[in-house]
Amino acid sequence: METSEPPPKTCRCGHSRGHHMVSADPEYTPWGWVRLVVGISTRPTKIKYRCRRCDQVVESTTAGADLDSYY
Ligand SMILES: [Zn+2]
Repeated sequence: METSEPPPKTCRCGHSRGHHMVSADPEYTPWGWVRLVVGISTRPTKIKYRCRRCDQVVESTTAGADLDSYY
C-alpha cells in the first residue's frame, strides 16, 4: 500500500502534538518576557511541542493561528 502523505510528526515514543504527554513550550522575545513578568499577555514568537517522556521536540510552529492561541 503506497501513500504520498508525509509521516505524522511524532517523537521517538510515538506521541504527536495533541498527545497529553506533549506540552507546548512557547518562546518569547526578551521584551516579551518583560511583558509577561509585569502581567501583560504576550504573543509568543514560536511554540515548541515537547514530549515530557523523552524530551524530544515533536514539532515547532511559528504559524500565526497557533501563536494566537497562546496570546
Ligand atoms: Zn516521547
